[in-house]
Amino acid sequence: MQALQLQGIDRLVQVSVPVPVPSDDEVLIQTKTATICTSDLHDIQSNPFGIAYPRVMGHEGAGVIVQCGAKVKALQPGDRVAAHPVIPCSVCEECLRGLEHLCSNMGHLGIDRDGCFAEYFVLRADRVRKIPADMPYATGALLEPVSVCLEAVARAGNLKDKKVLIVGDGPFGNIIARLAVKAGAGCTMVVGRTPFRLQMIPGVEIVDKTPDRSVDIAILAVGNSDAANTCMKALRPRGRMVVFSAVHQPVPVDLFSVHVLELEIAGACNDENKIDEALQCLGEKGLELQDIITHQISFDRWEEAFDMARNGHGRALKVALIFQ
Ligand SMILES: [Zn+2]
Ligand SMILES: [Zn+2]
Repeated sequence: MQALQLQGIDRLVQVSVPVPVPSDDEVLIQTKTATICTSDLHDIQSNPFGIAYPRVMGHEGAGVIVQCGAKVKALQPGDRVAAHPVIPCSVCEECLRGLEHLCSNMGHLGIDRDGCFAEYFVLRADRVRKIPADMPYATGALLEPVSVCLEAVARAGNLKDKKVLIVGDGPFGNIIARLAVKAGAGCTMVVGRTPFRLQMIPGVEIVDKTPDRSVDIAILAVGNSDAANTCMKALRPRGRMVVFSAVHQPVPVDLFSVHVLELEIAGACNDENKIDEALQCLGEKGLELQDIITHQISFDRWEEAFDMARNGHGRALKVALIFQ
């Protein structure tokens, strides 16, 4: 099969590799759509998670099951499915505490095992969900991005009637903003750099600069320290910042403000069992989450797709690879 393999920094290469064989608890999925994530671009550029080369990348995918392991009962060949790339071990201390998304032996498509930028991929059956007959594969591929955005909203606490600021206008900022509006935020503001991307977020207030000390919740949806500072400064007393995006450098935090204003800082990484809620959101009229996919590009034009995802901020949001 054809696959996109990361072979080194800035070396993503199309290769021919054997079709993987599912183990007893896994399914083999023929990929129909795989979406490109901001984290894929970081992995290619600087490999912050220490991926061992070579590795087939890709962790947001949907397709059709072609083979099931001997112990798989709930799924069968022909099922249209979406994948969740996080594979908890279920036996470590964090898993036993109920925090499987923070598993200390976590498996992850495209990081410690081959992912879905390939014509086929395998995944443990419990991390796969059937998608409705009328849901396009491209929409199904958003299962994990929507799951992790639901986690960001959950970590923000009750949003009802709250003033919420989202810093970042990329695909994640867009999804989080839609979910914040749905969660009943009184006012959802988004600050970002790209007019095209900002106007893709319905039902929010676009702000150039947030007034200091004015919001209840600030969600960091872009990975840089300036954005982190914008979040911290925007919080009013007892406000909470949610660190959704990965900032790879240490950021100085004004602990004096944290003290005198009783501010809170909460991380959000992966998702605590949000997979079924995410599937529901994907089918929900009004949220129209599929709209964030602006480009569907055939797999054989993958270089163009990655270029669009990396450099096309003025006209692209989420880019999907379409397999024949
Ligand atoms: Zn992703
Ligand atoms: Zn675990």
